[in-house]
Amino acid sequence: MTSPQARRPVVAANWKMNTGPDDGAALARAVAAESLPFAQVDVVLCPPATGLAAVVAAVQGTPVAVGAQHVFWEESGAYTGEISVPMLEGLATYAVAGHSERRQLFGETDLDVQRKTLAILSGGLTPIVAVGESLDQRDAGETLGVLRSQVTRVFEALTPAETAACVIAYEPVWAIGTGRNATPEQAQEAIGWIRDIVAAVQGLQAAELVRIQYGGSVSPENCQELLCRDGIDGALVGGASLDAGKFAAIVQAAAP
Ligand code: PEP
Repeated sequence: MTSPQARRPVVAANWKMNTGPDDGAALARAVAAESLPFAQVDVVLCPPATGLAAVVAAVQGTPVAVGAQHVFWEESGAYTGEISVPMLEGLATYAVAGHSERRQLFGETDLDVQRKTLAILSGGLTPIVAVGESLDQRDAGETLGVLRSQVTRVFEALTPAETAACVIAYEPVWAIGTGRNATPEQAQEAIGWIRDIVAAVQGLQAAELVRIQYGGSVSPENCQELLCRDGIDGALVGGASLDAGKFAAIVQAAAP
């Protein structure tokens, strides 16, 4: 497989349901003002939908990209509360699909994640497709099987070129927001499995090109040992991304 240097790391901030337009813009300005290795790492901020316009304005003229945390796959219509990909024009160049909080709390299925990923791609945005096992599944030795069904369900519907354009976030559910990150060995092993599954579904070239991040309690304290590992192409960061200094430290650690 290609060395991680051939894939540009991407570090994305998932602010979850935190920040409004004003404090979101202030946080975005603080991130953009950090001296970050923009030449080597893609940096993405995913504020709540109500903060997208303010964050876009705050990072205008900087290399910081903006992403949506959530989209619906239909383009328009009677879907109260939902946001479609065309509605994100000028507001986002990335969008997350399949975050475990959406799967667990809002009942999103693998098929939903597939539809969202296709919609995100057809709108010209970069999907960040989140997958990962629960603690029960890991303890039962089911991690590989869970990842196989989550990854296959999404990527079987894409072309190899579309697959290569995606970012995948490996996020073990038990590590999200818990302060208990996966060990570098666990993250590397699972990401290796995901790359093998992508290769089986879409071929070796797509698997070599697709970027696979780790997410789950990434912090300034643990980012170095996680992000220096071969095959881990950056991070999806929740809690620590609400602090510009902590997020900047994680971005620094992702630089090859
Ligand atoms: C996330 O929200 O995707 C995430 C990984 O959260 P945290 O970093 O807080 O675990």
